[in-house]
Amino acid sequence: MRITRARALGTCFGVRDAIDAALSSSISTDLTIVGQLVHNPQTVQKLHEAGVQMVDSIDDEIQTRNVMITAHGAPASLKQKLSDRGHIVYDATCPLVLRVHQAIRRLVAEGWHPVVIGQPDHVEVRGIVGDLDEYTVISSVDDLTQLEGRSRVGIVCQTTHRIRQAKEILEQIGHRFPTMEVEFIDTVCKPTKDRQEAVEELSLQVDVMIVVGGANSSNTLKLLKVCQENGITAHHIESQAQLEPEWFASADHVGITAGTSTPHEVIDQIHARLIQISKSGDLASE
Ligand code: SF4
Repeated sequence: MRITRARALGTCFGVRDAIDAALSSSISTDLTIVGQLVHNPQTVQKLHEAGVQMVDSIDDEIQTRNVMITAHGAPASLKQKLSDRGHIVYDATCPLVLRVHQAIRRLVAEGWHPVVIGQPDHVEVRGIVGDLDEYTVISSVDDLTQLEGRSRVGIVCQTTHRIRQAKEILEQIGHRFPTMEVEFIDTVCKPTKDRQEAVEELSLQVDVMIVVGGANSSNTLKLLKVCQENGITAHHIESQAQLEPEWFASADHVGITAGTSTPHEVIDQIHARLIQISKSGDLASE
């Protein structure tokens, strides 16, 4: 059984830098992270072990002096509130998320109605729109009715959105609102695009795809969706312990991909377990 890793997979620089900052010995023992730094159970465990505290929102009790904003970002007003309460704010917002904040501010300043293509309840999207008086979030073509009556819309994307789906939404806007002026800024980040393109390529070559990432990781679920759309059997797992040998009983070629918050050590463990499974007596007899 051949095993191939997607040419781009796993932790991106934004998530890696945020984790390194949180684990920095100078702050980790007096640090609270607001929200999930990464959607990855192994990394969350490592942070707990280092003494880092985590809360879901700034409305929860925060007992440490240092507070970290995650790579997903937050509205400026939220960071200000934390400073006003006397906390030292460590802003681990990824530069590519900050680019989306800048893009939408520019669109608003130029008089466009701001629109985000993304998941309305995702922390990154809440951060992008959190300081705006008025905005629209579109997660699929079904939401386009929300744009009725608008004449000028300026559109950005959640950084981890599928660029293919964003383009479909843009096409539909063109069909349904032919007189609407549209300014689109493609803010899907390069690491996300690289992983989406790589899984697209690899899923066409393999019999089974293993998609590694947190159960609630939005970008991992999008990688899974690419496999499903290409008609490939794909299994979404968080760790090597979830691999089932029978998944590979008739597989000649297995691919591995992983979301942007999956550490490379977790991918290595899964790869090693796949090699072990491929060499096991059960499969050798297939
Ligand atoms: S997925 Fe993209 S935007 Fe998000 S942290 Fe990684 S590089 Fe930054």
